[in-house]
Amino acid sequence: MQSRFYVLLALCALSLFPVSGIASGGRPSPRDPDAGIHASERGIPLRTFARTYGFQRMNETERTYEMRGQVFTLRGETGGRRVWLNDVMIWLNQPVLVRQGHWSFSEVDLEKTLRPILQPTRFLGGAGHQVVVLDPGHGGKDAGAVSAAGLTEKAVCLDISLRVRRHLSAAGYTVYLTRHQDQYLSLEERPRRAAAWNADVFVSIHANASTNISASGIETFVLAIPGEVSTNHSTQAQPSQLAHPGNAFDEANMALGFALQRSMLAATGAEDRGVRRARFSVLRDSPAPAALVEVGFLSNPAEAAKLAAAAHRERLAQSIAQGIDLYLREVRRAALLAADSPQRSFQP
Ligand SMILES: [Zn+2]
Repeated sequence: MQSRFYVLLALCALSLFPVSGIASGGRPSPRDPDAGIHASERGIPLRTFARTYGFQRMNETERTYEMRGQVFTLRGETGGRRVWLNDVMIWLNQPVLVRQGHWSFSEVDLEKTLRPILQPTRFLGGAGHQVVVLDPGHGGKDAGAVSAAGLTEKAVCLDISLRVRRHLSAAGYTVYLTRHQDQYLSLEERPRRAAAWNADVFVSIHANASTNISASGIETFVLAIPGEVSTNHSTQAQPSQLAHPGNAFDEANMALGFALQRSMLAATGAEDRGVRRARFSVLRDSPAPAALVEVGFLSNPAEAAKLAAAAHRERLAQSIAQGIDLYLREVRRAALLAADSPQRSFQP
């Protein structure tokens, strides 16, 4: 995508104010008496959440909480919007606030962020699992970001997409690319093509750029929830109430986004910029569960040099293919569970 200077502002702000006041949109520190950390809406207290979802240990300090289960470790900031599930950062829709006397997740984060990751099969029954549409960002007259050495985002994205296709085709999936060459394609045309091919999953592939050349790392975007803010910048934008076609897949979007971000981080050891939410046009109009990955910063000389190396692009491609495959395996597992036991209820 284009310049992400606002993300840098967020990072600078976080390093200056480690208490989550800035991350939670300028809300005061949780340590301030009478601070604006009490939300009127209902939520689920952290301890109730831990008990309900099979986390055995719950440590809570003034600023942080941590809980451990058999499969997942979850930690986060009280008063803040960041959680780490198995060390992968996810931006919540709303900060963890005191709701009805207890530090709590908001209901929207329980339903749209946490449960889709902890219990993906609960939400993926009936979803398709065969047709993958990959969308290499930019193309033709639109080069996207360009590194100091002249490496273009459009070329990096196409090369990685072709490699992802190779891996997924070998695994037996039907794979389409919105573009196969250096060709301009409007933002509207991309999801339109995915719809024509009956996509089961849509993944747009991009590289990042920032005016701050030290910005680095990998991030994955899924569509913002109606009525909630996007989390691709530090300030609280006005939440949009509008529901888009892509919001039909809110839970699947998050399961897919988490699988992609986790897989890319594990393969590259890159800095984790988190799973975030935005209202990018390709996500809004997607006819299937969708995510947009940002594989690194072309504006950062060290990351640009990595992206110029075929071995690194291959590593990224393998990990993106693996993330998509992990998500589609969960879809198949959901179908099997549904066929096996229609009345099955969740066992933590
Ligand atoms: Zn881009």
